[in-house]
Amino acid sequence: MTKFLIFYNIINKGDEKLRQRLANFMKDRYGIDHLYMFLFTLYFILIIINIFINSFILTVIELIIVAIMFYRMFSKNKYKRSREEKAYLKIKDNIKSIFKKNKYKDKEHIYKRCSKCKTNIRLPLPSSIGFKYVTCPKCKNKFKTLVLRKQKVELIRKKG
Ligand SMILES: [Zn+2]
Repeated sequence: MTKFLIFYNIINKGDEKLRQRLANFMKDRYGIDHLYMFLFTLYFILIIINIFINSFILTVIELIIVAIMFYRMFSKNKYKRSREEKAYLKIKDNIKSIFKKNKYKDKEHIYKRCSKCKTNIRLPLPSSIGFKYVTCPKCKNKFKTLVLRKQKVELIRKKG
């Protein structure tokens, strides 16, 4: 606790030099992103699980996760790190959309995602299949999308 207080005092009141040094140290470094937060959560969950099962392998995995977290945070290769972040977000999006698809499924409509703001848009089934232009109601972005389902046309014949 006292150690923490000393550290706190240094950062907040005291040594401007140290603060400057810390700022300089972090200046060209990547820092924290969504992938970092995911790893942090994963690490936290594993620690709690490990309290109960006390596994050596899990401890090693925890250490690897922490190593990756620190490596990425202090990395100067921002381009590579942001590519990792993008890949992570894409995987996360895909997993999310699997669950969403089932939720939204219905036979009367098709569901498309706005290419700009990623909103799910519900459209009535068109009379023909092929490329359609869709205007997003949220951001007014106009985009082309491939529709592979169409309205069933039923012929109703009058008797007589
Ligand atoms: Zn949109």
